[in-house]
Amino acid sequence: MNAEVQNIIDRLADGDDLSINEWIKIIGEDYDTTYLFDRADGIRRKYYGTDVYIRGLIEISNYCKNNCLYCGIRRDNESVERYRLSDEEILECASSGYELGFRTFVLQGGEDGAFSTKRVESIVSSIKEKYSDCAVTLSLGEREYEDYKMWFDAGADRYLLRHETANREHYYILHPKEMSYENRKRCLYDLKKIGFQVGCGFMVGSPFQEVECLAEDMMFIREFKPDMIGIGPFISHAATPFSDCENGTLDLTLKMLALLRLTCQKALIPATTALGTIHPAGREMGLKVGANVVMPNLSPVGVREKYSLYDNKICTNEEAAECIRCLERRVEGAGYKIVVSKGDSKV
Ligand code: SF4
Repeated sequence: MNAEVQNIIDRLADGDDLSINEWIKIIGEDYDTTYLFDRADGIRRKYYGTDVYIRGLIEISNYCKNNCLYCGIRRDNESVERYRLSDEEILECASSGYELGFRTFVLQGGEDGAFSTKRVESIVSSIKEKYSDCAVTLSLGEREYEDYKMWFDAGADRYLLRHETANREHYYILHPKEMSYENRKRCLYDLKKIGFQVGCGFMVGSPFQEVECLAEDMMFIREFKPDMIGIGPFISHAATPFSDCENGTLDLTLKMLALLRLTCQKALIPATTALGTIHPAGREMGLKVGANVVMPNLSPVGVREKYSLYDNKICTNEEAAECIRCLERRVEGAGYKIVVSKGDSKV
């Protein structure tokens, strides 16, 4: 590794800001990443030790009014068998998750009008009433300030909304014109203002992504200071306009994870299912370069395959109990430990 690259890594670890050109260099240049990965793991251990937090993912609906070009459950994909969980089913998922040691439930879904503001408010209240020692994370897309506020007041603690790309031009390559780059950013800042722990994120290697786009992602994240950052490799889905596009790579995703740990040192960063999909040990590798969260699936097994944002998604057949045992082994094998904890942000 040349001295300039090492110097940039050291400065990041010391909390320095980088210029856009420095980001482009550190992301785009080819170098031995051992030093970068070691520094990232060191920072992760400084703030979180070997703790790995688990989040119980409940995929509540695969209906979506949007048509993001990369997404397997986009509106125009008529080959998807659509489903919605009932309120009772969602509460059952939370109940079995609680027994298994989960203290955070993530309610994720497409932008589905059937989950009205009131309905989500009532589900959040029910979960918080029953499990006051748990956090509820919502990941339900773009809404108005008032909707988010109602959910926050009902007890929701966190909100995940990937910004997808910080480059405006790239945003409109990935999304139809009817969607709005400005509105997505507006949502993120509203969520923060309301008091949520907020997560943003992006895909690595998405179609037409340039190194400059990734550099802009890092600049945006540095400025926004999210509590959580979700990234994973782009994986194409056969029934989308990007079906023929190449997938993102393991190497670049790991590099970006390590750089995120250095630039947002206390953030909660998952080793995503997409990372485990492009490589059998992808999640373990993610943990070793700075990730500190895993998100096993608590959704009923019968609907898992239907929530297919990309092809060949792993963990669609195991019951939650099997999933968590498998993950425990994987996490321990990588040198870390799953803890029973709400796992709040330290940002
Ligand atoms: S990425 Fe999200 S908003 Fe876009 S189509 Fe898929 S589920 Fe809907």
